[in-house]
Amino acid sequence: MAGEFAGKVAVVTGASSGIGRATALAFAREGASVVVADRDEAGGQETVAMIRDVGSTAFHVTCDVSQDADVARMVDATVRTYGRLDCACNNAGIEGVQATTAEYPCEEWDRVLAVNLTGVWLCMKHEIPVMLAHGGGAIVNMASILGVVGFATAAAYTAAKHGVVGLTKVAAVEYATQGIRVNAVCPGFIATPLLDRAGITPGTDMYAMIANLHPIKRLGTPEEIAEAVLWLCSEKASFVTGDAMLVDGGYVAQ
Ligand code: NAD
Repeated sequence: MAGEFAGKVAVVTGASSGIGRATALAFAREGASVVVADRDEAGGQETVAMIRDVGSTAFHVTCDVSQDADVARMVDATVRTYGRLDCACNNAGIEGVQATTAEYPCEEWDRVLAVNLTGVWLCMKHEIPVMLAHGGGAIVNMASILGVVGFATAAAYTAAKHGVVGLTKVAAVEYATQGIRVNAVCPGFIATPLLDRAGITPGTDMYAMIANLHPIKRLGTPEEIAEAVLWLCSEKASFVTGDAMLVDGGYVAQ
């Protein structure tokens, strides 16, 4: 298949839904073979079918990114099936409950950190050796505006996303001379099932209030985030590494 990523192999975690699905589809439309890595099997198979519909190839791996053995198996399956790994979008994430810092439940703290921070590290831990073995690659970790600023009632999520930005910078510096670029994307509020679960659905007062927090006065779309991921993975971004790119309708600029 023709396209900017023709002949390339991309892993996208959390690709059964939302931003991950849009990113997997964007890679596929540009000719990449895509590994859809997600703990949700049914959604993963739907994404694979959507990718085949646009004429590219993909398979789903059931993978909990917080589990080292799952991530190792996912990267192994990638290399066994496609022979290489060029691009990785480490995107799987959860929202966690909303509670003030003193009231934040310990088990929820552990769960959010395990998926949103340890999960990103485990993915890089297994992706980087494979990329090094095949001449390099590009990694984009999904952070958030909450990787840059605070947000009341989101202690674990905010701590994890700040951690993702830090981790991204460390890996960028470590592998800069070895052909691997590592960046993060920091989305503002994006209309996905993650926000639906938090009650931020179109037509509600909450949705209007959240839209109003962005100078652009709307939420973003998953496709707008996918565009940034693809650009960061492309040759057009060949001098960009260690960046935490805001794609946030101006949220953090205020
Ligand atoms: P989503 O809920 O639509 O999709 C998240 C996907 O991750 C789901 O398919 C889910 O099954 C998968 N997932 C969750 N835990 C997993 C695990 N342990 N292992 C493997 N897969 C797992 O959410 P989304 O809005 O598309 O979020 C994607 C990423 O973008 C997350 O990291 C999120 O924190 C980040 N983000 C979202 C927003 C937003 O407003 N939606 C804003 C900033 C950042």
